[in-house]
Amino acid sequence: MFEDYREIQKNFYDTMIQSIVNNQKVNHAYFIETNGYEDSLNLAISFAKILICTSHHTNYNDCKNCSICTQVDAGSYANFKLIEPDGLWIKKEQLLNLQIDFKTKSLDDHFRVYIINGADRLNKAAANSMLKFLEEPEENIIAILLAPHRYQVLKTIISRCQIFQLIPSSSNEKADTEMLSNVVSFCMSIEESGTKTIAFCSQIWDNILNSKETLLEFNQLLLDLYESVLHYQLEGSLIQNKFDSYLDEIKQIAKKNSSTQLLNKMEILYKIPKKVQLNSNQTLLIDKLIIDLSGGVNA
Ligand SMILES: [Zn+2]
Repeated sequence: MFEDYREIQKNFYDTMIQSIVNNQKVNHAYFIETNGYEDSLNLAISFAKILICTSHHTNYNDCKNCSICTQVDAGSYANFKLIEPDGLWIKKEQLLNLQIDFKTKSLDDHFRVYIINGADRLNKAAANSMLKFLEEPEENIIAILLAPHRYQVLKTIISRCQIFQLIPSSSNEKADTEMLSNVVSFCMSIEESGTKTIAFCSQIWDNILNSKETLLEFNQLLLDLYESVLHYQLEGSLIQNKFDSYLDEIKQIAKKNSSTQLLNKMEILYKIPKKVQLNSNQTLLIDKLIIDLSGGVNA
């Protein structure tokens, strides 16, 4: 329920209630910068319900699970679509299907809402298709785009949306300090010694990365770290409080890498979860990761 976010995402909640419920003013595209907020998709879905469900408007915020909202939750409501990456990317066909669905259905004047959960994961063709869709907004079609950070999404897409920033989850900020320190050491080792990291990090693998879950957690923190470095490089500030005590390291990594290099490294890390699922030999996987992050075998 959207009400659940009244305190925890106050800015977003207040602005939306004010403009949509009180003033009946709706934009045709919203971009939500999630900043790693864990419940962002649920927040976006409850926001979509505010737009779609008329009882939400009349009863301020609660429709007591009307049939429309129940269908939205079940994914069976024709005027609501959720699009997420199919594998690594959101593909052009997914957007074309959406456009076909929304063109042919619903002749009533209800809003039709789609959520793109992973606007940073639109491949090139999909991004272009998305852009066209946003450039020629059809009446009553509303887009809600989600991505961790705005710089991961085409500027031309962002510029057509009303932008919101979410507050990161507090649990996100309080990541296990030992794990965090290992992630930073690992990253610094790769940045300073490249593939030599394989030799002197073996202890970390044996002691820490002993399960798929910890490896995934480790990978996510490493990804967060590179995101923080990129953000620092672009904006001159830290975005994730959990790296507060590692500002020196972040500055050093920012100095060593161009934005493109950082994005390439993040791209490598994005692919890890899938590889972890498919690959049973974690040591090989990590060795390969170190080689890739170091820029190849000759680095
Ligand atoms: Zn409802």
